[in-house]
Amino acid sequence: MLGLTLREVALALREGKVSPTELCQRCLHFIRKTKFLNAYVTVTEEIALKQAEQAEKRFLKGETLGPLDGIPIAVKDNFSTASIQTTCASQMLKGYIPPFNATVVQKLLDQGAVLMGKTNLDEFAMGSGSTDTIFGPVRNPWGYSRQYQERCAQNPEDTKDSSDWLITGGSSGGSAASVASLTCFASLGSDTGGSTRNPAANCGVVGLKPTYGLLSRHGLIPLVNSMDVPGILTRSVHDAATVLGVLGGHDPKDSTTVPEPFKPFSLPDEIDVRNVCVGIPREYHAPGLSKEILAHWTKAAELFEKAGARVVEVSLPHTQHSIVCYHVLCTAEVASNMARFDGLEYGHRSTIDSSTEVMYASTRHEGFNDVVRGRILSGNYFLLKQNYDRYFVKAQKVRRLISNDFMKVFSSGVDVLLTPTTLSDASRYSEFIKEDNRTRSAQEDIFTQCANMAGLPAVTLPVALSERNLPISLQFIGQGFREKNLLTVAKWYEQQVKFPLIEFQDVADHVSEFPKKTKSASAS
Ligand code: GLN
Repeated sequence: MLGLTLREVALALREGKVSPTELCQRCLHFIRKTKFLNAYVTVTEEIALKQAEQAEKRFLKGETLGPLDGIPIAVKDNFSTASIQTTCASQMLKGYIPPFNATVVQKLLDQGAVLMGKTNLDEFAMGSGSTDTIFGPVRNPWGYSRQYQERCAQNPEDTKDSSDWLITGGSSGGSAASVASLTCFASLGSDTGGSTRNPAANCGVVGLKPTYGLLSRHGLIPLVNSMDVPGILTRSVHDAATVLGVLGGHDPKDSTTVPEPFKPFSLPDEIDVRNVCVGIPREYHAPGLSKEILAHWTKAAELFEKAGARVVEVSLPHTQHSIVCYHVLCTAEVASNMARFDGLEYGHRSTIDSSTEVMYASTRHEGFNDVVRGRILSGNYFLLKQNYDRYFVKAQKVRRLISNDFMKVFSSGVDVLLTPTTLSDASRYSEFIKEDNRTRSAQEDIFTQCANMAGLPAVTLPVALSERNLPISLQFIGQGFREKNLLTVAKWYEQQVKFPLIEFQDVADHVSEFPKKTKSASAS
């Protein structure tokens, strides 16, 4: 039951094969069994059971609220949730209880979704491993899958793999792990430079970053206001479209949402790609791309061609500058966003307070990790009067060129772009932390942050298992506000590849000592 897609489980609920309470209890049981993954920061057991009970009453009366009624979901811990702790995995907000729900969270609840809990992340969503969090890193469920364990057993030279656990990617690692470990059917992540798509790719689930302006950011604790979007993680492309249908639309509380009414859509099951033009961006053949991912990328292009789609090589010439500009713009916005955390209104407040300045400084020193502090420092440097034009304004101009590259390609008749999502399959923790957060992000975000720079929708989906029996994923980037086209093409490819469901060993065997304290990554 827990391995079903959202669409399938919604049907099972409607047909009375399982009740919302039973489903909720099964998920809670599995959350307890997979606690060692560290996917959840807070498990909202009581709330979930109450919401499931209310859904059950509606089902008995035949008054269901829609496709999410009674469905267990999880929410990244950087979305405000009324009366539930919202921490951003930071000492700064530990214990902070918001007085309101983020708009997207409210929309899920209004549709009868059952909130299982809040998920772990890199502090303030800065990172790509879900390793820089005060709650300890998130472990990738695939490391405990029968598929991966068997592969390790057959290859004694790889035994190091099974003892050294795998990262989820990030920053929405908890959200990806929660869906991949079958403890919920959909989760909310956030995506500023790839934070939904990167962990989705590493954990073998679908990750959708919608067009900037389609979903409200109200209540999503900001990282980079001009790029942040709520992300959707599910076990199928169809499910991502369903959740998008619930979340999309103008919000008077977020002036950057588009005022046009949003029409939810469902995706066809019979898909014909003969009229589709798929672009393969030349510049995405990046150094460090694993041979396996390259092979699956090539295979995907061939499959589209075989099915009658037009596949063309395209050029996005400014791609190479994107990651550097992302870094300048990201840190500049971080520097101004983080200014609100001063110990006065909410969050952590230092007891070292001999003067207001000392109190500010010690609050921020104690409250933020060195990754956050490092970004504030770089951002303020780029914003200095003497540097502003050289860095910030220049990065904005290059951002426009990056966006224009996409526009040109799309106006030449290309419907979607097909690219890798990550350079390789999931890394081992010990390998991952060899590099600092910034270097790692520069590598991990290479294929993802361009879509944020241009505000475009993008979706990642798992397409195969690697030689190590770990998920390999590809990304489709679409035209702004054309989510239906993008997801239809992605769904067609999903139907071709039939990615396997994770198979768990007896997960209880892995409930071992878990490292709470991690080596703090240097922010250099
Ligand atoms: N890795 C990126 C960063 O650290 C992604 C952040 C995000 O999308 N939240 O900035």
